[in-house]
Amino acid sequence: MAHFPKSNVTIIGAGASGVLLANALVKSDTPLSVVLIDPKPGRGVAYGGGDPDHLLNTRIGNMSIDAPKRSGFLDWLNIFRPRPEGWSEEDFAPRRLYGDYLEQRLRDLENRTPGLGSTRVVRARAMAAEQSGDGWVIRTDVGDHIRSETLVLATGLARPRPLMFHGRDAIEALVQDDPWDEAALRTLPLGGEVLLVGSGLTALDTATAIWRRDPDAHVTIVSRHGLLPRVHASPPASAPVLEQPYPTTARELFARLRAAAEFVEGDASLRHGVFLGLREIGSALWSALPDDERLAFLRHFRRYWEVERHRVPPVQAAAVRGALDDGRLEVLRGRLAEARPSADGATARVALLTPSGPKAKSVGRVINCTGPEPDPFRSRNPLLLDLIAQGAAAADPLGLGLHVDDDSAAIGSRGEPTPDLYALGALTQGRFFEITAVAEIRLQAERLAQRLLAREAVQPLSETATQPAPAND
Ligand SMILES: Cc1cc2nc3c(=O)[nH]c(=O)nc-3n(C[C@H](O)[C@H](O)[C@H](O)COP(=O)(O)OP(=O)(O)OC[C@H]3O[C@@H](n4cnc5c(N)ncnc54)[C@H](O)[C@@H]3O)c2cc1C
Repeated sequence: MAHFPKSNVTIIGAGASGVLLANALVKSDTPLSVVLIDPKPGRGVAYGGGDPDHLLNTRIGNMSIDAPKRSGFLDWLNIFRPRPEGWSEEDFAPRRLYGDYLEQRLRDLENRTPGLGSTRVVRARAMAAEQSGDGWVIRTDVGDHIRSETLVLATGLARPRPLMFHGRDAIEALVQDDPWDEAALRTLPLGGEVLLVGSGLTALDTATAIWRRDPDAHVTIVSRHGLLPRVHASPPASAPVLEQPYPTTARELFARLRAAAEFVEGDASLRHGVFLGLREIGSALWSALPDDERLAFLRHFRRYWEVERHRVPPVQAAAVRGALDDGRLEVLRGRLAEARPSADGATARVALLTPSGPKAKSVGRVINCTGPEPDPFRSRNPLLLDLIAQGAAAADPLGLGLHVDDDSAAIGSRGEPTPDLYALGALTQGRFFEITAVAEIRLQAERLAQRLLAREAVQPLSETATQPAPAND
């Protein structure tokens, strides 16, 4: 068991959110000690894969981790991952290169000159945390006890909720619930048919990965709405957004979004611009809705928002269009109702219920592309479950991550903010809704860093406070 000096801030999770916060804290003039705990630091789910065809769905210019410096990632690419034609802010780089960037920036933080603040990365999984005196004691899976004044949860969302359909047990070996499991994708039999459940960016990434290995593979995508993400316009025009007062019902919000989109129909650039503008006020629009209306929005309109909001890079959209045209891709509105194994168990006969009646297909794999699971109770993340069990944290009322206030402070079971406990990133979706992409999380991280830096509790620790914890701490 290692001993650590007490830190000012400990961040659980060193994916993009954790790195963004550490960067925002450490670059200040206050010499803080920051600890990040993560078994696989520096990448997270989004940037942990190796597929060169998996592109960022946002332009390079939006991906810098340094808030005022838009060119941070661009400069890094041109120095460390140059290509003959160079990179521009408008390009969509492979996601794995963004993972390389995050990892290197995290190493840079660790190697900063002593005295300017310190960042330490602990490669472990946080299992539990409890309040102790003036802070927290965090227990990891390797038996460390790490003390910190402030605890920030940046654990991201969990893998997708397992698919439910009749007969699943009988074809269990053919069901892949983790669409980002690249090793599992490599075991797909060549020349077969694959069913993807869900039609967002993850489905398109999965189809791209399948065709990279097996260009003739047939892919069927089925989802409740059968809508594919829209393509990035280049360049999106700036367009007017909704005026205040913002709608207070889901139906009115949807009607106004639709009117805004129809107003610019036929002009892809303006239409994209409208939704970029809306994205900037996305959290404010969400805040204006009461809980029951938020639920209605999620149930009935979320997918329409997402196809506009989470757009696909043009090169990937062209590949998808080509596959639709030559019949390698079929997109269906409906749901997977039932599956039965073939005699040799190598394929499954799946029944899809669509508005035009049932459809049957023989597929070699069913892949779950329904998106990350936001509900902390289903996350099986021991730390979140522990904090919820203690009452220090609580699930968001709609199950969209943790319940937090406008300052990202975790709200406990009594409805009050728990001292020195915060959450960051997609885990705070329930409060902010538009908090998925790096651009929004970077802003949140900057705000949280300012708040933490302004607090007395994160002034540099005294000598006594930095003594190693006793062995039984
Ligand atoms: C496939 C995909 C593609 C995306 N592409 C883009 C894009 O192109 N542009 C964009 O702006 N956004 C994109 N996003 C959005 C993306 O979610 C955010 O950009 C960002 O990666 C979220 O990071 P995070 O750190 O909050 O969560 P995660 O990336 O999930 O990282 C959480 C980290 O916490 C760690 N962790 C969890 N529990 C514990 C624990 N108990 N103890 C220790 N560590 C723990 C995990 O190991 C992980 O490293 C994409 C998302 C996905 C899923």
